[in-house]
Amino acid sequence: MTVSIGIIGTGMIGEEHARRITQSLTDGRIVAVSDVNADQARAVVDRLGLDARVYDSGLELIQADDVDAVMVTSWGGTHEEYVLAAIQAGKYVFCEKPLATTAQGCRNIIDAEIEGGQRRVQVGFMRRYDSGYQLMKEAIDANRLGEPLMIHAAHRNPTVPERYVTPMAIHDTLIHELDTFRWLLDDDYATAQVVFPRKTRHAHSKVEDPQIVLLETIQGVRIDVEVFVNCQYGYDIQCDVIGEEGIAHLPEPQSLTFRQAGQHSNEVLQDWKKRFGDAFDVELQAFIDGVANGTVDGPSSWDGYAAAIASDACVKAQESGQIESIEMPDRPAFYA
Ligand code: NAP
Repeated sequence: MTVSIGIIGTGMIGEEHARRITQSLTDGRIVAVSDVNADQARAVVDRLGLDARVYDSGLELIQADDVDAVMVTSWGGTHEEYVLAAIQAGKYVFCEKPLATTAQGCRNIIDAEIEGGQRRVQVGFMRRYDSGYQLMKEAIDANRLGEPLMIHAAHRNPTVPERYVTPMAIHDTLIHELDTFRWLLDDDYATAQVVFPRKTRHAHSKVEDPQIVLLETIQGVRIDVEVFVNCQYGYDIQCDVIGEEGIAHLPEPQSLTFRQAGQHSNEVLQDWKKRFGDAFDVELQAFIDGVANGTVDGPSSWDGYAAAIASDACVKAQESGQIESIEMPDRPAFYA
């Protein structure tokens, strides 16, 4: 079966996903696109040579009879409305992070999905599809490290634009780690604290940078994550899981090793699209295959909700300077 997909939001990642589906992946085709800026949607159709109709509104696209599945890649504040409409129309939906901008918005999606009686939503937490993180998960699940005790991690970007402000370090950047760690550990968070080291002179006035986020899980695992979004030197994701009997280190992305000018060195990637390019491929192929088989089972609405609850607590901790508690409701059997 070829899955007919409609994309809402044809900005940077919407175009990337459309290109992937059209040029790299199998069994999916883009039949519809929509963007608040229709010229932008038309430009993507032209650039990629798509045989796709351009809709004036995302809600109209969702209702189209020839759209089997919807991809929501618009601005985060619009996600909840589109995901709810897709569920109500009985369509599968891939939603880029965040699932919704508030925990309550995620809860509304969960309630609608449960009422519909079928899992329809996959959230764009692509790190779960990264081969390095998958190796770590296999090692933890096989008990090769003993019980995990600590995680040391870092999320570093070369620079961020002026519109990037302090809370975005949590809900735009750390959100990936918030999902990844609870997936790796099969655990949830109990507390969060954020501390601010000396500020880099490369950060503009509206962002505190770097930040260190300290999390404690329900099982007592202690996690420290450095978020440093003006680090200058590259896009660098680090993760070490320390267990009772060993340490797992996230593999470095493949890069050339140089012996040159008296140095022995490796390039550091500059771009998240390259760092997680393979993971995006696997993630979207899993969604297409899931739609074709009627079993979408990637990161769920519940995972989007759990990350949103933790994210809200971290933003609160940024403001309060205190250790904030994180209350996770019981997971419904629907998402077991
Ligand atoms: P972007 O380049 O700004 O693209 C978003 C597009 O959506 C823009 O063309 C925007 O139009 C359009 N849009 C805004 N409101 C809309 C509406 N109501 N209906 C339809 N289209 C609308 O942003 P992006 O970087 O692609 O990010 C999009 C989403 O993907 C965000 O939620 C972001 O967090 C997520 N993302 C995820 C990853 C990841 O690693 N998984 C990476 C990057 C982005 P205007 O520009 O005219 O407003």
